Amino acid sequence: MSVTDLSSPPRAAGRPEAVASPLDAIDRARGGDPRALARLISLVENGSPQLRPVMKALARFTGQARVTGLTGAPGVGKSTVTGALVAAYRKRGLRVGVLAVDPTSPFSGGALLGDRVRLQDHATDEGVFIRSMATRGHLGGLSWTTPQALRVLDAAGFDVILVETVGVGQAEVEIASLADSTLVVVAPGMGDAIQAAKAGILEIGDMFVVNKSDKPGAQEAVRDLRTMIAMAQRGEGDWKPPIVATTAASGDGIAELVGKLDAHWSWLDSSGERDRRRQARAREEISVIALTALRRRMGGLPGGSPLDALAARVASGELDPYTAADELTAAVPGLASPG
Ligand code: GDP
Repeated sequence: MSVTDLSSPPRAAGRPEAVASPLDAIDRARGGDPRALARLISLVENGSPQLRPVMKALARFTGQARVTGLTGAPGVGKSTVTGALVAAYRKRGLRVGVLAVDPTSPFSGGALLGDRVRLQDHATDEGVFIRSMATRGHLGGLSWTTPQALRVLDAAGFDVILVETVGVGQAEVEIASLADSTLVVVAPGMGDAIQAAKAGILEIGDMFVVNKSDKPGAQEAVRDLRTMIAMAQRGEGDWKPPIVATTAASGDGIAELVGKLDAHWSWLDSSGERDRRRQARAREEISVIALTALRRRMGGLPGGSPLDALAARVASGELDPYTAADELTAAVPGLASPG
């Protein structure tokens, strides 16, 4: 297999290539053409070999967008909060991209997920691009597709990118590693605050949103979160995650939330944390791409799978796993020696 494999995981079966000239699509996407943008994101989802030249061409346009991740249990109001944030940023004249990532679903595409009524309000606004992406069953999953889709939106000139994901399993932790700012959304009366503590989301939240504050129990949820956050060890100059009570359905609290996000952005800048986070993100991106390619090569080289052959020898006691690993790395082209 050639070195170009490094840029992409195996393509999902049965999905045709949609883009005749990806470089032309980049020009059009940067000019604000939503169809060109959608096609580029499809390349990401399909793990297209065309991604390599696309990513090369995009690189110099990236690094501008402000990326905010939103996570939380289903039904707490993430989409509604996202929609309210989109409206607030649009009022400022900013272009906003939304990626709704569903790690539990194999379905994706241009269609909006479920009842995203709030997001549909923006469906005809040229300054807003909304895309849902499913990552289940994708090799590399969320960690492979989402950062690359983010790159596409970033390079297309969106000022703000909101990445929304259902808080299940590892997904929320992965989202946090992708975003400049991470919002954890909870709602009163769902035991969410306690669940948040259990799931370790307290550590990843730069900010906590108690949504549905029109419902009973909101003040208690704020208080519980405040107590839990106060227990976390923080140093001088560290960011202290604020808690914002919102009623996203009516827009209450959204202006305050936007203000806190601005404050966090300033802190990221002055503390140097933004560069640290973005480098960590890039490190992760490189590793995932390289490891995906490596795994694929280990599994199947011309003449069969060296991994299977070695596994049989280790299982039978003929070989120890360290020697097998040495043999494997020597057998994979591009690993033992450059090129
Ligand atoms: P998600 O699954 O976390 O994205 O949640 P949604 O944004 O789809 O919202 C779930 C339900 O809660 C919907 O019926 C919303 O209309 C409702 N909802 C969202 N925000 C609020 C709010 O601030 N107050 C109330 N009472 N309901 C809300």
